[in-house]
Amino acid sequence: MNNLVEIGEAIKRSNRVLLCGHVMPDGDCLGSVLALGLTLERLGKKVIMGGPDPIPEIYHYLPGLDRFIVGKPPEYEYDTFIVLDCSIPERLGQGYQEFLNKDLVLINIDHHEGSQPFGDYQYTDPKAAAVGEIILDLLDVMKVQITIEAAVNLYTAIITDTGSFRYDNTTPGTHRRVALLLEMGIPATDINIHLYEEKPLAALKILGAALDTLTASPCGRVCWMTITREILHKAGALDEHTDGLINYARSIKGVEVGLLFREISNDLYKISFRSKNSVDVNKLAASFGGGGHTRAAGCVLQGDLKTIQEQIITAAILAAGGAGN
Ligand code: 5GP
Ligand code: MN
Repeated sequence: MNNLVEIGEAIKRSNRVLLCGHVMPDGDCLGSVLALGLTLERLGKKVIMGGPDPIPEIYHYLPGLDRFIVGKPPEYEYDTFIVLDCSIPERLGQGYQEFLNKDLVLINIDHHEGSQPFGDYQYTDPKAAAVGEIILDLLDVMKVQITIEAAVNLYTAIITDTGSFRYDNTTPGTHRRVALLLEMGIPATDINIHLYEEKPLAALKILGAALDTLTASPCGRVCWMTITREILHKAGALDEHTDGLINYARSIKGVEVGLLFREISNDLYKISFRSKNSVDVNKLAASFGGGGHTRAAGCVLQGDLKTIQEQIITAAILAAGGAGN
């Protein structure tokens, strides 16, 4: 692994940069890409920022988002490819994975547990609450000033990946970094309104429908919800409106592991895992081919819902120490 000085030097040598995050982008992925991309543009570099999947509407306020290209990246004579918040190459998605095989300087910055090292330059810090924290440190090491636009993006990255500082990835260093952003004068209240107080009606409808499916294991240690395409369509909701619903499964007294089973398409399911105190859901998700963090992880499985649920719920109950109850 490289240190941030080496990463900063490699970035300074670049001229034509392709910069991306992961599939199904979240606040950390988007905020980190935009903060770094906008800053590199100010340093006079040609930067293409993008990702394969559409941007959820709640992030439409992010400064610089009009510069973010959704879908395939344009063909161009890039010299450097920077990948953020991706634990494994597969999380890059189609259109971007191809660039791993091209003759570019590959720089990979991430904060997932058990991240697979890839890239000519690689920096992974699982203790960082968000890649946004690392980007803030990187820009500091590079001695480049950040603008308010970049700061808004970094603040978004950090508050979304820490659940507004509630998750146990939040450290004193997280608060110190955010204090710096606040001292710059970012409109924190407006950002929080955009993120949490302007939900479309459909997001509340799907919350109601998801809560209807809430089921607890007999031991009370595991709780899960299920969202099929039919449930989603009936609520008039989009996939992006299911973001955050899993937290309700975990928020119940006595529950250690919350699960959300979401049908992506026929016989293809996304499973989200969250834990409260003790279970390493990164390990749990990894045993089904996924990954993530100790308290938040995910995987995608093919098969019928009943079989998938049986396998995952059984493993979750065992991990949560609830077997036999
Ligand atoms: P979410 O449940 O919010 O989609 O994801 C929670 C965490 O798990 C994120 O940090 C994300 O990177 C990781 N994650 C989600 N889905 C997958 C997956 O299919 N594979 C891997 N390796 N990680 C995932
Ligand atoms: Mn992240």
